Amino acid sequence: MLDEKYISQLVESVIKNMPSSAVPAASGNQLGVFDKMEDALEAVKKAYKQYKNYTIAQREKMIANIRRLTNDEAEVMARMGVEETGMGRVADKIIKHQVVAEKTPGTEDLHPTAMTGDQGLTLVEMAPFGIIGSITPSTNPSETVICNSMGMIAGGNAVVFNPHPNACKVANYAVDLVNRAILEAGGPENLVVSVKKPTMDTSKMMMECPDVKMLVATGGPGVVRTLLSSGKKAIGAGAGNPPVIVDDTADVKKAAVDIVNGASFDNNLPCIAEKECFAFSSIADELIRTMTENGAYLIKGDMIDKLVKVALIEKDGKYSINKKWVGKDAGLFLKELGIDADPRLIICETSEKHPFVQVEMMMPILPIVRVSNIDEAIDMAVRAEHGCRHSAHIHSKNVDRLTAFARAVETTIFVKNAPSYAGIGVGGEGHTTFTIAGPTGEGLTSARSFTRQRRCVMADGLHIV
Ligand code: NAD
Repeated sequence: MLDEKYISQLVESVIKNMPSSAVPAASGNQLGVFDKMEDALEAVKKAYKQYKNYTIAQREKMIANIRRLTNDEAEVMARMGVEETGMGRVADKIIKHQVVAEKTPGTEDLHPTAMTGDQGLTLVEMAPFGIIGSITPSTNPSETVICNSMGMIAGGNAVVFNPHPNACKVANYAVDLVNRAILEAGGPENLVVSVKKPTMDTSKMMMECPDVKMLVATGGPGVVRTLLSSGKKAIGAGAGNPPVIVDDTADVKKAAVDIVNGASFDNNLPCIAEKECFAFSSIADELIRTMTENGAYLIKGDMIDKLVKVALIEKDGKYSINKKWVGKDAGLFLKELGIDADPRLIICETSEKHPFVQVEMMMPILPIVRVSNIDEAIDMAVRAEHGCRHSAHIHSKNVDRLTAFARAVETTIFVKNAPSYAGIGVGGEGHTTFTIAGPTGEGLTSARSFTRQRRCVMADGLHIV
């Protein structure tokens, strides 16, 4: 017979001698995903302590692994994302993951600077902030987790995520993927953590934890406002309502194809996607016709009013989105109207004041407003963008008009003669990100956004000329 006292002593001794990183345990079999936020915070604290001793080359090895696994598992995450949220398109979400894997900068984004002269050598290095708390959206859930993780790890940080509750399964799949990649490359356990069931309470606990030194919010105005009033260094990537202008110098056929592709990509979920179009009257017919030949379906008259009732909720003359319909396929909207078709995008002609123009809908519905000249187009587009200073697009070959619109709209992203996604490196130069920080000014975030500058001064020495 085994002695009970002996067994309990044995168990106690095994627990005591376990490596500290094994306590507390992550939830279920997902690496880095905890039942409780306090345990996640405890675990990431330990991981960050270890991570401080890692070299830049080791960081890069982990990032290379994240890139590989993200590419390998892009389809799994794309399918999970659509299934869990009921939003978007699998094929487009695969592309989003591939872009994250291939075009998110790593440690090469960190550029130390040196100043040398008679009085010696001064170095400015980009140091980690420490533990970063990140809140992620439902529209690009796993993409944002992976993209944030790569940039933050490249900057030498650890991360705690509080993902959107409606997309936490796929976001936590991504947390697990990142941890698998890190461990495989010899990195510490729990460098990136999350909670199984994120809530406002877990978000508050994360924000208030003194060990969390920086906060990053990717989402609508509510979350950005909350984080910016936290008293901590915060990066806010908020809402937009990107207009696109098409003038009479544009290659109208190309503009039509580009706009259908951009506005229908992942059913218009991306914050950068074309959400309303201002077209010169002289080319509007050709633009609309070419759009319908390239994946768009034109609705008119009372069909537009019916669609308003499906997509939006009206209260006291004010419209807001009907969340049930965000990111749904265009064919499902048409079915509600009694139309049997499955295009990528629905288009319709409206006035400037129409709610389809003014509300950020994130649905594959693009209103088109006729304008008579560039001044009118710019004025309307600036009003529709509502000062978010997020993204705006234009199809024109007139340099003065391109310049005038860019100056007036003051957006973080401004795409000329291409689909909106060229602005995040798909068919356009430049790196990608899914955290576009307009309100706080970091722009398209990357590793350097998640660092703090530190100056190191050597007086009267080490300058060699
Ligand atoms: P959302 O604002 O509903 O949610 C974003 C996240 O914030 C979620 O994790 C949510 O749980 C949390 N949250 C919301 N209010 C909060 C509060 N008061 N305190 C703490 N946490 C809070 O956004 P969504 O519907 O998932 O995403 C769509 C919105 O995000 C759109 O407005 C879109 O333009 C914007 N977005 C912006 C970017 C960008 O890079 N600028 C990227 C993606 C999405």
